[in-house]
Amino acid sequence: KDELKIAVGAINLKRRIVVDSMTKIEEVFMLPETAMLNQTAIANIARAGYTRIPVFRQGDQRDICDVLITKDLALIDPDDNYTVRMLCNIYKHPIPRMSGQTTLFSALQTFRTGDDGHLAVVYRESDNETIGIITLEDVVEEILQEEIKDE
Ligand code: ADP
Repeated sequence: KDELKIAVGAINLKRRIVVDSMTKIEEVFMLPETAMLNQTAIANIARAGYTRIPVFRQGDQRDICDVLITKDLALIDPDDNYTVRMLCNIYKHPIPRMSGQTTLFSALQTFRTGDDGHLAVVYRESDNETIGIITLEDVVEEILQEEIKDE
């Protein structure tokens, strides 16, 4: 029964689109590139619990320019006055962008074959505005048709 359910989920990947599975931009935990990576900021990032944190240009949450991977913080000394920008310049993680109308099938292909990581920024085709993010986990959940329990 479970196998059938997963098979149906997999077949539906060509029918479902990214906009229905993404996390809306208003709900995304993000950081401005100018944020200081002091002790409080690092504690807040750890508490939020996400692996990848989109970084936006000051003043516009929809202008996502980078992604901070929390493991990059491991070598940061909170007293060194690093900003998010400085960390992003060291590690340089590219972020794929995809239209909300992209099928989950092709989103999966992008995550699988690209070197750009497993988080993509989602934009609206009509005006190119950022509307959310989608990760590989969101796609896998559509295949399984249930939430994956987070560690
Ligand atoms: P993580 O590894 O951080 O748990 P996943 O890629 O497993 O993230 O995704 C789990 C869920 O959390 C997905 O629905 C994804 O869209 C969402 N998500 C991922 N990163 C963020 C973030 N920075 N802010 C809000 N939601 C996020």
